[in-house]
Amino acid sequence: MLDTISAHIRVVPDFPKPGIQFRDLTPLLADGPAFQATTAALAERAGEFDMIAGVEARGFLFGAALAQLTGRGLVIVRKPGKLPAATIGHDYDLEYGTDRLELHADAFAPGTRVLLVDDVLATGGTAEAAVTLLRKAGGMVERAMFVMELDGLPGAARLRAMGVEPVSLLHYP
Ligand code: AMP
Repeated sequence: MLDTISAHIRVVPDFPKPGIQFRDLTPLLADGPAFQATTAALAERAGEFDMIAGVEARGFLFGAALAQLTGRGLVIVRKPGKLPAATIGHDYDLEYGTDRLELHADAFAPGTRVLLVDDVLATGGTAEAAVTLLRKAGGMVERAMFVMELDGLPGAARLRAMGVEPVSLLHYP
């Protein structure tokens, strides 16, 4: 099953800037059986949780699919200014400058076990910020799932340092 998934991931060199090997998941989304296999593989490894949090933008795709398969609700973690009702936010540092993630303040009840879902775990900056935000909202986050993880970067270590177990279907150097 994992071979089918990896066969549908395309490497695009030097995107979005020179030196980055971008792992493009659009061929995986475009293939029905491969997309279905991805969702099933995530579900097998998801453990116990009450709701899924998908991170903008590709985390929405896999998060929504997993929510449908498991019958759980989906909350969306968005870039600033996108959510219409009252939000809570978390600012975090990038290599140059800062960024911010937001969540509807009433997205879930305190104590809800939230499973974080995104496409790629790279430096872990986005996932770390999303976990911090979900916890600020009262969520319990113990696991974060990714279609792929880049092992040469510190994402997994950063998540483990905050008590979150990273679970990735595929690993690349
Ligand atoms: P990071 O905060 O560094 O863990 O990465 C955040 C987001 O950037 C991930 O959720 C991906 O959507 C995207 N990303 C980072 N590196 C790559 C890559 N090599 N290929 C595809 N997407 C990437």
